[in-house]
Amino acid sequence: MTLGVLAVQGDVREHLGVLHKLGVQTRPVLKPVDLENIKGLVFPGGESTAMWRIMSQNGLVGPLAQALRDGLPALGTCAGMILLAKEITNWPERYFGVLDIAVERNATGRQVDSFEALVNANSLGDIAVVFIRAPLVRRVGSQVQVLARWEGIPVWVRQGRVLGASFHPELTGDTRVHEYFLNLCR
Ligand code: GLN
Repeated sequence: MTLGVLAVQGDVREHLGVLHKLGVQTRPVLKPVDLENIKGLVFPGGESTAMWRIMSQNGLVGPLAQALRDGLPALGTCAGMILLAKEITNWPERYFGVLDIAVERNATGRQVDSFEALVNANSLGDIAVVFIRAPLVRRVGSQVQVLARWEGIPVWVRQGRVLGASFHPELTGDTRVHEYFLNLCR
C-alpha cells in the first residue's frame, strides 16, 4: 500500500518520516500523475493559501478534487484541514470542501502563540498535541464524528474516510493519529 503526502509546501518531510516509521510506502504528491494508485493522502500543515496556489499552478486541483469525490481517504492537519473544509468562517474562499465543517483560520493566534496541550481522544486516550496558528472547528455537520476536543472545541474530526485535525500529529513522535488513518486506508 502506498500513501501520498501532498508535497507542495509545509510539513511534508515530517509526515513522510512518520509514515516510514510505520513501515508504509510513501509518495510525495506534486503533480496529477503522483495520485495514481495511492490509497490515501495526507494534507500537511503549512500555509493553506500558498499550498492552493502551487496546486493550481501544477494542475493538481482538478484531479485531486476528483480523487476525493471518488473516495480517496484523506488526513488533513492544520492547513490541510482548511483545504478539506466545506466552509472557512473568516476567509472568502473555500478549497476542496469535502469535510462538512466550518473552520476559523488562525484561531489560536500568531506563530508565537503556538502551544502544546493534552487532548482526550476517546478511543485512543490522551494525546499530546501541538497547535501552530491553528484553525478551530466552529461547526460540524451531522455526518461528522468528533474524535477529540480541546476545551470543548472539536480538534479532530472524521467524516467517512476523511479526517481533519487542528493540530500537528507529525511533530510529537506519537504515531497514533497516523495509525488511525492507516486503518481507514486499508
Ligand atoms: N494558519 C495556517 C493557514 O491558515 C495554518 C497553520 C498551520 O498549518 N500550522 O493555512
